[in-house]
Amino acid sequence: MKYEFPVTRTTNPKAKPDPNNLPFGSNFTDHMFIMEYDEGQGWHDGRIVPYAPLQIDPAAVVLHYGQEMFEGLKAYKTVDGRVQLFRPEMNAKRTNNTNDRLCIPKVDEELYVEAVKQLVKVDMDWIPEKKDTSLYIRPFIFGTEPTLGIHASTSYLFVIILSPSGPYYENGLEPTKLYVEDTYVRATAGGTGEAKCGGNYAASLKAQVIAHEQGYDQILWLDGVERKYVEEVGTSNAFFVIGDEIITAPLEGTILPGITRNSCIQVLKDKGYKVSERRMAIDEVVEAHKKGEFKEMFASGTAAIISPVGTLKYKDTVMEINDGKIGPVAQLLYDTIYGIQTGAVEDTYGWTVPIE
Ligand SMILES: *Cc1c(COP(=O)(O)O)cnc(C)c1O
Repeated sequence: MKYEFPVTRTTNPKAKPDPNNLPFGSNFTDHMFIMEYDEGQGWHDGRIVPYAPLQIDPAAVVLHYGQEMFEGLKAYKTVDGRVQLFRPEMNAKRTNNTNDRLCIPKVDEELYVEAVKQLVKVDMDWIPEKKDTSLYIRPFIFGTEPTLGIHASTSYLFVIILSPSGPYYENGLEPTKLYVEDTYVRATAGGTGEAKCGGNYAASLKAQVIAHEQGYDQILWLDGVERKYVEEVGTSNAFFVIGDEIITAPLEGTILPGITRNSCIQVLKDKGYKVSERRMAIDEVVEAHKKGEFKEMFASGTAAIISPVGTLKYKDTVMEINDGKIGPVAQLLYDTIYGIQTGAVEDTYGWTVPIE
C-alpha cells in the first residue's frame, strides 16, 4: 500500500450511542485522522490517533479570517455486512477545488481516500446498521499559523472525524417546508459559492434563523444579483419536476457541485427522464404551480440523500407540492441511490468503494 498511517489506539473507548435514537452529527467515534502542513515541508505525519480536543494557537488564522474548508461523505454497512464508501474520490477532488479557491495547499487525492478508508476501518464497529443510519465522515482543513496579518496561512491541519448518525431530518423522508429567501443571499459569481467552506454557512445562519421563526425547515436561495433564479437549499442542491422536465440550477460558480446532485442527474438520464441544468426564475415555479404543472420538488445531499419538499413559500404565495407527500421521482432516486450505497441495488456505475 502506498499510504499506511500509524495508528495509536485509544485506551479509553467510549460507549456506543443508542442506534434507535441516533441524532445527526452529535456523537463521535474513538479515533480521528490528523495531518499537518508546514511551508517548505508540505503535508506530513498523517496518523490515526484517539479522538480528542485540538490545541490551536489563539492567533491561528482560521479563528480570525476563517480560512477553513470541509467535506462530508458516508460509510454504509451493506445488507450482506460489507462496509463501503460512496464516490469518495469525488470528495477528494472537490476538496482540492475548494482548497484552490481558499489558497489552502492541495492534498494528494489518493492519500485523502486512503486516510478516510483507514480511519473508517479502525472505527468499523461504530457503523450503525439500522435502516437510514450511517457513519458520517467529516474531513476538514484549516489555517493554523499564529498571525494577525492577512495572508494565506503557512501551516494547516487536516482532520477527519466520524459520526455515527441517524437520518438528517428527524422525520426521515417526510416532506420539508422551505422558505424562499429574497433578502439575504448565499453567494454571487466570483465569490465562494462553489467552495465547501465554513464561511458560506456562517453567512447563511441569519436567514436560517428567520426561516425557523416562521415555521420553515430550510431556505431556498435565489441568485445573489437579481434574487430571481432558484439556486440551492441550505445544505443541498434543489430539483424541480415541472411538467415532464426535471430542472436543477447549473454549475456556474454560485452553487455547490453536489455529488448527490451529480448522481441524481446520471440516474435520471439513464431512466429516460428529461433533465435540464438551467437557470429557472422563481416566477416560473409560481406560474407552473398555478397551472398545476409543478409536480415535485426535492433537495439532494449526502446527509439526507433525498429530501422531498412539501411546502414552498415565496413572498405571499404558499405552494403545496404533490399534496405535501413524497413524489415518485424523489422516491425513485432515494431507493436507487440509497440502494446502491447499501448494496440492495446493483452498482452498475462503479460508485461504491469497499473497505476491507
Ligand atoms: C455539501 C453541500 C451540498 C451537497 O453536496 P453533496 O456532495 O451532494 O453532499 C449542497 N449544497 C451545499 C451548500 C453544500 O455545502
